[in-house]
Amino acid sequence: MGKSFKVAEIFGDRVFGKEQLKERLEKETYKKLDKIIQGGGELSLDIAEEVAAAMKEWAISRGATHFTHWFQPLTGVTAEKHVAFISTPNASNKVVSEFSGKELVKGELDASSFPNGGLRATFEARGYTTWDCTSPAFLKEDATGTILCIPTAFCSYAGDALDLKTPLLRSMEAVNKASLRLLAALGNKTSKKVTPMSGAEQEYFLISKEKFLKRKDLVYTGRTLFGTMPAKDQETAAHYSGSINERVGAFMKDVNKELWLSGVPAKIQHNEFAPSQHEICPIFSTVNISTDQNQLIMETLKKVADRRGLACILHEKPFKGINGSGKHNNWSLVTDDGINLVSPGKTEEDNLRFMLILSCIVAGVDDHADILRLSASCVGNDYRLGGDEAPPSIISIFLGDQLENELLQLAETGESSDKAAKERISTGVSFLPAFSKDMTDRNRTSPFAFVGNRFEFRMVGSSDSIANSNTVLNSIAAEKFNEAAEILEKSKDKEVAIYEIIRKNVTAHKRILFGGDGYSGDWTDEAIRRGLPNLESYVDAIPAILSPKNIKMFEKLGVLSKRELASRAEIRYENFIKQLHIEALAMVNISQKQILPAIIKYTRELGATINTVKAASRDADTSVAERTLIKVSSHLKAAGNACVVLESAIAKADSIESVAEKALAFKNYVRPAMEALREPLDALEKCVDKRHWPLPSYGDLLFDV
Ligand code: ADP
Ligand code: MG
Repeated sequence: MGKSFKVAEIFGDRVFGKEQLKERLEKETYKKLDKIIQGGGELSLDIAEEVAAAMKEWAISRGATHFTHWFQPLTGVTAEKHVAFISTPNASNKVVSEFSGKELVKGELDASSFPNGGLRATFEARGYTTWDCTSPAFLKEDATGTILCIPTAFCSYAGDALDLKTPLLRSMEAVNKASLRLLAALGNKTSKKVTPMSGAEQEYFLISKEKFLKRKDLVYTGRTLFGTMPAKDQETAAHYSGSINERVGAFMKDVNKELWLSGVPAKIQHNEFAPSQHEICPIFSTVNISTDQNQLIMETLKKVADRRGLACILHEKPFKGINGSGKHNNWSLVTDDGINLVSPGKTEEDNLRFMLILSCIVAGVDDHADILRLSASCVGNDYRLGGDEAPPSIISIFLGDQLENELLQLAETGESSDKAAKERISTGVSFLPAFSKDMTDRNRTSPFAFVGNRFEFRMVGSSDSIANSNTVLNSIAAEKFNEAAEILEKSKDKEVAIYEIIRKNVTAHKRILFGGDGYSGDWTDEAIRRGLPNLESYVDAIPAILSPKNIKMFEKLGVLSKRELASRAEIRYENFIKQLHIEALAMVNISQKQILPAIIKYTRELGATINTVKAASRDADTSVAERTLIKVSSHLKAAGNACVVLESAIAKADSIESVAEKALAFKNYVRPAMEALREPLDALEKCVDKRHWPLPSYGDLLFDV
């Protein structure tokens, strides 16, 4: 059972947070640091030295041997380079523990092996990591020992962002500024800071490690490249929120403890829809912290699973025909004096502000639907989006009937007089609070849904970082808030101006509002009629990075420069190519080395059986074995041919120079060739004797954890 513990007593035990800083720093230093944490600014070396000394002392007292700058390069997974706390040995071969302020705030590493999309010439391969002091340092305790992890941003020598964190931090600043500007224009005199908040619901599969290791497709690509639905499938939905079995329960208990120790407020856990699928969800926090915490959650799930003889699968679509995994990113904007900007309030004034902000978000999501879709794109998500289990790849917004009608009516008052407009607003907005309490009908098929006090972006893939989607959401809001503020600042009659902005935003962008069934084919047709972008694949969405309206938004807000964006497009293409390449090669490899030889052996056995039985008795009936042999050998032939076709598709795609074209070739030719190979192999799995099938089946993997 393990030792019991009290959550409140262990929570944050491994975190060097505010309390530790306060306790260990000079009062003045703490004040200065806190000011930077709250409001931004440059950290002086003096402060850094004192913080580093305090951090080192604390970490060493806890048994830490190394520190690392913990960062999120564009690979999507966190990276670390451990450095021991030791000095060069002195004459008597003694060392002291060493960690300077410089080492705390800035790390230098040869970063040429991280994706940079041409931002770093080979002669200037250095990259820098800089401390993000708004996200606390923490200790990682595992088989490596105890490591002090310092959350950092990662930039090139020239200052270009090479990671997911830097633009996220910049977008937080941009949305803070724009929101304050808008609030000021609305007459708010109390709010001093606006922080984007996020809470990510993380789905995953948990299977036996022993069986996982027997499936090289899972090991190399994170998903099964072959396999069919077992007879007992998810249709019964028996798994969803059912009771948690003991082995999984013990795993969850360990995961929670690890997370609580690391200061991650893990809150909710349950079984998900598919067999062996589960979810974990922490309490929301500031987007950069929740981004870090989500990385830590994914890492912890994998690590604890491994320790317990299990394998945690974070891939978006590990099993064909079975629901995949996603990550709902819940997002809101909250002021330092407790106003949630995306929540209807208690007064007419609050609700008017809410309707204005809502209209800005509707406009922003419509204007930048393509880049928002890209922010949730990863190779695995291509197999999941639009598959009757996850939102389609078309972005739309669900507001709920009541709120949608209200917003449309506000806008439709159209040409009415100023007076009528004002009346319309006051009657419209004063009834909002009632609706907000009644937000029970949540349309689960919508990619972007308003859920009473936040938006839920449901498109993000389960293995992906939430950094990109939050960067885009913050930026979209910031752009539209700035536009609204500019009008309001110049207006003589604020109420009329607010009405005008709402009207314009809604009239121009109402096409993005959709409350129906997002999974239906009718919606796809309708969306196309409405002119909404239908970017079916990840590759189709990449050009959005370089569309003029997106460049303009990011540059104007100082979130990403054109140069940085261009590099990101390049990296996206490269990532796509790399992953499909691995998948395709793994498929050829497993087919040729494991499956085809096993089936050949099976046909030999069948042939021998038929001959032996016939020799033993002329009257014996061998028709079943013969039919099986005919069926198996015909699928075998198809599989052999498909393998050849796949190999040549890979070779052809590989020979293409331009990354954009190469990525398209992988999507248009290699992926279908993979599907074509899978078909006869999956058909074979259904008719080949289980003893001869070289891989654990879906049934073995999913119903026997
Ligand atoms: P669901 O009903 O969608 O499954 P959950 O309760 O599982 O919801 O998860 C919702 C997530 O949204 C949690 O991480 C929660 O902390 C977060 N959340 C709640 N309120 C806000 C908010 N105002 N802003 C951002 N995230 C929020
Ligand atoms: Mg949810």
